[in-house]
Amino acid sequence: MTYSRLTESLSVVLMALLALLVALPASAEWHRYSDTAMTTPVELEFWADESVTADVVAREVFDVFHHVDTQMSRYRADSELSALNQEAGKGPVNVSDGLFKVLQKAREVSELSEGAFDVTFGSVGYLYDFRAGKQPTDEQVATGLTRVNFRDVVLDVSGQTVAFRQPGMLVDLGGIAKGYAVDLGIEVLEAHGIRHARLSAGGDMRLLGDKRGRPWYVGIRDPRSGNDNAVVLPLADVAVSTSGDYERFFVDDAGERVHHILSPSTGRSVKGVQSVTIIGDDALTTDGLSTAVFVLGPEKGLKMVERLPAIEVVVIDDKRMMHVSEGLAPPEQ
Ligand code: ADP
Ligand code: MG
Repeated sequence: MTYSRLTESLSVVLMALLALLVALPASAEWHRYSDTAMTTPVELEFWADESVTADVVAREVFDVFHHVDTQMSRYRADSELSALNQEAGKGPVNVSDGLFKVLQKAREVSELSEGAFDVTFGSVGYLYDFRAGKQPTDEQVATGLTRVNFRDVVLDVSGQTVAFRQPGMLVDLGGIAKGYAVDLGIEVLEAHGIRHARLSAGGDMRLLGDKRGRPWYVGIRDPRSGNDNAVVLPLADVAVSTSGDYERFFVDDAGERVHHILSPSTGRSVKGVQSVTIIGDDALTTDGLSTAVFVLGPEKGLKMVERLPAIEVVVIDDKRMMHVSEGLAPPEQ
C-alpha cells in the first residue's frame, strides 16, 4: 500500500466515523428547576436534548412568572393591578393584553358560577391577613361587601380598558393569575421545541405531553395530612388546579378555620369543602374554576362542571367524602 493510498483510506474511515457521530442522537435527559414567584414555589421539569440550553429555557419560563407578578400582584404597590385598583374607580384605564385577558376569563368564570367566583371579593379580602391571624369585624365586612360585584367591573374590548362602577372597589387576581402564568410558561417551552414537561406554581399545574411513553402521576393531596395523597391520577397533556382550605389559614379564637377562599356573599371563609381539583385544557380556566367550585360546594359545583365540555373535577368535602365528575367516575358494574 502506498503512502497516498493509506491516507486516502484513513480519511474514508474518519469520514465514516464523523457521519456516525452526526447520525447519533444527542444525549437527552430530564432537567429539573425550581424558583419562588407570585408568593409560591414554581417547579419545572422537562425533557430536552443538547440542542437546547436547558438553563436558558428555565430562566425564560421563570421570567414569565416574575413578569406576571409585576402585572397582577395585589401585594406590590408598583404592579399594574395596584395602579388599576387606584385609578379605575375614576374612569376607564387602558391595560396590558395579559391583564385584560385574565379579567375577561375572570368575568366568564363569574358568570358561569353565578358570582361564586368574583375577583372583586378583594374589597373584603384585603381586610384579612392570614399570616398575622387577622380578620375583619362584621361592620368592616358589611361595608366591604357593598363593593363586591363582578358586574361593576366594566371591560371595554375596543379600547382594552377597564373601569369600576364603584370607587373603592378592589380586584384581587389570586384565584386565577397563577394559572395564566403557567399557560405562558408552557408556551415558552413549546416555542423551544420541548414536548414533555411538567410546570407547576403552587396548586396550578400543566403537563406538556406524557412522561415519555407513560403518564404523569399527579397526586391530589389529602387536605388534612401533611404529604399523603388522597388519590393519584395518571394524566397527560392537561392542566390541573387545586384549591384547598389548607393553603393559607389560621384558626381563630372561636376555633373556626379562617382560610383564603371567601364567599362573595358573606365575606367569610367558605365552609363545607376541603379541596377542589379541576382538570381541563388550560391552567387559566382550571385555576378560576377550582376556586369557583370551592365556593359553590360539591352539589352546585359538580352541576356547573357537568355542563362544561372537557372539564373534570374532584371535590373533597368537609366530611372527607370525595365527589367526582362523570368523566372520572368508575364504570358501573
Ligand atoms: P392558591 O393556588 O393560591 O391556593 P386558589 O386558586 O385556590 O389559589 O385561589 C385562592 C385565592 O383566590 C385566594 O388567595 C384569593 O386571592 C382568591 N379568592 C378567594 N376567594 C375568591 C372568590 N370568591 N372569587 C375569586 N377569587 C377568590
Ligand atoms: Mg384558583
